[in-house]
Order: sequence, then C-alpha cells, then structure tokens
Amino acid sequence: MSLADQPPAAVLVFQTLLVHGSLTRAEIGRRTGLSAGAVTKAATPLLADGWITELGRPAGERASGRPATPMAVRADRARFVGVKVTGDELIGVLTDLTARPLASRRAPLDSRDVGTVVLAIARLIGQLRAAAGAERDDAVHSVGVTLSGDVDGQTGTVQYSPFLDWRRVPLAQLVESASGIPTVIENDVRALTVAEQWFGAGVGLSSFALVTVGAGIGCGLSIGGRVVSGAHGVSGEVGHLPVGGTDRTCTCGNTGCVETVASTHAITEQARQATGDPALTMEEAVRLAHADNAAVRAVFSRAGHVMGLAMASVANLIGPERIIISGEGAASYDLFADQIRQTFADHAFGAAADCDLVVRPLPFEEWARGGAAVAAQRVFAPAK
Ligand SMILES: [Zn+2]
Repeated sequence: MSLADQPPAAVLVFQTLLVHGSLTRAEIGRRTGLSAGAVTKAATPLLADGWITELGRPAGERASGRPATPMAVRADRARFVGVKVTGDELIGVLTDLTARPLASRRAPLDSRDVGTVVLAIARLIGQLRAAAGAERDDAVHSVGVTLSGDVDGQTGTVQYSPFLDWRRVPLAQLVESASGIPTVIENDVRALTVAEQWFGAGVGLSSFALVTVGAGIGCGLSIGGRVVSGAHGVSGEVGHLPVGGTDRTCTCGNTGCVETVASTHAITEQARQATGDPALTMEEAVRLAHADNAAVRAVFSRAGHVMGLAMASVANLIGPERIIISGEGAASYDLFADQIRQTFADHAFGAAADCDLVVRPLPFEEWARGGAAVAAQRVFAPAK
C-alpha cells in the first residue's frame, strides 16, 4: 500500500504527525479540524500498515482507539536518500521517514559531464546504504536529488542549470537507471524550504520565505502551508530581480540582476577592483572587511543593499511571517546585516516590514536532507 492511495484525511493526519511529533487523537482533531470519528477512521489504515504507531501500547495488543493514546509516525517505516549537487561536490544523507539523518557522505566532482555526475551519485548512494546497513534491495524507498537552476520536479528534468551548464537533462530517470531506486529531483532551494517547513524555522508558520545567499541568490516560498513550485517550475528567483545600477552580466545573460552585485562571485570581483588585487579570494575579502578596509566594506554594504531590496520585494509581494536567511554567504552575515535591515525597513511597505528576518546557517548536509524530505513527501503527495 502506498500512502498516496489514502484519502485526504489520512494524508492530513500523517502530515500533522510528521510535523508535530506525537499527538493524541484529540490533539490531531484540534490541529486538523477533523472530528474525533474522522481522525480514528483516517488513522486506522495508517496504523494497520505501519506508517504510524500508538505510543505506550504493548506489542500484540490491538489498537485501543482511545482518544488519549498518543500516536506518532513510525520513523523506521521507510528510508530515503537525499543528494545535493554543487559545481564541484556531491553531499548525501540517508534518512528515516522523518528525515532524521542516519548517515552522511561527501564526494568530490571532478567533471560536470552528465554521465560522470550520474555515476558519482549512484556510487554515493551505495556508500550511504553501506554506512547505514541499508543494503537490502528494498531498504531505501526513494532518492531525492537537488540542484540549483530551473528544475522540473514533475517530469524529473533539469531544464537549465547554469553552473553545471546542463540543458534538458532527464536526471531523475538517469539516476533511477544507475541506482535502481525510484528517484525524484527538485530545485535545491525549494527542497530546503520543504525541510524548513517540516522540521526547521518554518514550522507552524502560515507563510515564510527562505532566501539563500552564496554562489547564487535563491528564494523558496511557502504560502498557506504549501511550498510554491510555480506553474512553469520557476518561482522565487530573487537573484534575477532587476535592481539596475550595474553593467555586469549575470549568469542568466541579463544585466542589473541582484546576483551581479551580491553573489559570492560578484562580491569577489568587486573586491578585486576595489583593492586592485586581481587574485583576491572571497575569504581574503571577508578578512579585509573585518579589518575595516573601507573600500571592501563598501562592496559588502552594496551587496547588503541589493539583498535588502530583494527581501523587501518578497515581503511586499507575499507578506510572509518570516524571512529565513541562509546559504554559504550567511557565514559572513555580520558584514551585510546592518545594510540589509536598513534597506529592508526603507522599502518594505507598511505592515510588510513586521516580517522578522532570521539568519540560519545551514550546512550542505541540511540541503541534502531537503532532498530526502522531498522524496518522503512524494510518498503521500505524489507529483500530479
Ligand atoms: Zn540574472
């Protein structure tokens, strides 16, 4: 039996337990608006098939159905692998049904050739299975692979990934053939947003945005409890909001995008110009800024300004309760923080400015976990 065959009330009960841990039937009823009878009816097949369990009930005893007996998702019912693909590395985790990591591994990528990357992903999946003692053929339910770019999760196709220079790659099918395990793919920021919605700083919020700063600048949107995919597979591309003021060319081919000022690459290039040192690295730029080098500080401040513009645009468009700021760039957030908050306050319209800005450094293993969360989500909410 697949959870995808269950009626909506069962899926709702399952999702509620997944997000909130153990709850009594009465608590589930309060959170979902289902009647006590409807909760029991929805939970019965889930209990029978082992997706959820009643806590504190001795093995062998029949399900009590008592309203006060807490129920919880059975974490060991299924395992998933999540893989994040970057330009030079794969990061993988093997998780249980609640996306709790059981093993993690990284593998360098020495080529961006599709065939080479697919084989490296399959090898990494094998290593994760061995590390977690999950080598049986059916031990891993499915795999979720995430990467930046225009990723169509419905068809499993990477439409366009600038940093890998891939166009129209049927990645889900290729990984599935190479690994022998059902595979889904998703944009990496959207997958991380799913993980934050279920297990992170987005739990219980009616709407939130996750803005990631680093090599690219992305944004995942959760509105009314749903992570937005966009009718054409693209949404939240704040890195390509036109903010003008620059003639530098973006990876997308346009000029004036947020990324041409605030991506790691853009900051490094501007710091090289500001210092006259053509070999300056991002790490050195951060060090100079911390040492109060005025020219380099100005580069970070300008980056913070356009990030603030991007976040104010997000707030003005969807009015989220919270904007979570993450990505590699969050490590040097102190260099951007004042300018981001200032620009955000200046440009967020009215009460949209009440949105709180939260900085959350999330290592790449958390991004990979997002892939596992997307794979787990498809168990009970298959792609339509
Ligand atoms: Zn662009």
